[in-house]
Amino acid sequence: MTDIMTPQQRHYCMSQIHSKDTTPEKRVRQWLWKHGYRYRLNVKGVPGKPDIVMRKYRTAIFVNGCFWHGHDVETRHGTSLQIANSKCCQIPKTNREFWVTKIQRNQERDQKNYEILSENGWQVIVLWECQLKPKKLEQTMLQVEIQLHDFYIKTFNHRSKTYIHIEEERLPMVAEEPEEYGQ
Ligand SMILES: [Zn+2]
Repeated sequence: MTDIMTPQQRHYCMSQIHSKDTTPEKRVRQWLWKHGYRYRLNVKGVPGKPDIVMRKYRTAIFVNGCFWHGHDVETRHGTSLQIANSKCCQIPKTNREFWVTKIQRNQERDQKNYEILSENGWQVIVLWECQLKPKKLEQTMLQVEIQLHDFYIKTFNHRSKTYIHIEEERLPMVAEEPEEYGQ
């Protein structure tokens, strides 16, 4: 079978696939819903089109594909394009420069969106595809839950904030390591 698409057309098709609901994103939504959290999708007027918007917590969640958004990949700017592969983002050897530029641009755009959101008082939570595999989902989402509540208290409940602040100061210092590791 011959390839009938031009590189541009192929690129367009891939970007369309990318913009559809991904399985990791569905897992996040299902987890949130099951645990009583309500959210909106594709909310207009929120910069960067976050995948999930939780207005009550003023939190925007991005579910990023490790390849497209260059998870753990450091792109360098300069005369030559350099990029280091990470475990979950392997840049193809062929057409390397195209992919590096593409991923670099995505990273820059992501960063800009996160900054705009933060400046507007939003909490930004970035979740990576590799953190949302069935085995890791629960652990990742429990962390998200903590972040949601922490931010909610800090942002909306000033009385609680003061209370927690005082309580924290009164608490004796404890080792960060869980006990079982110290034995
Ligand atoms: Zn990853």
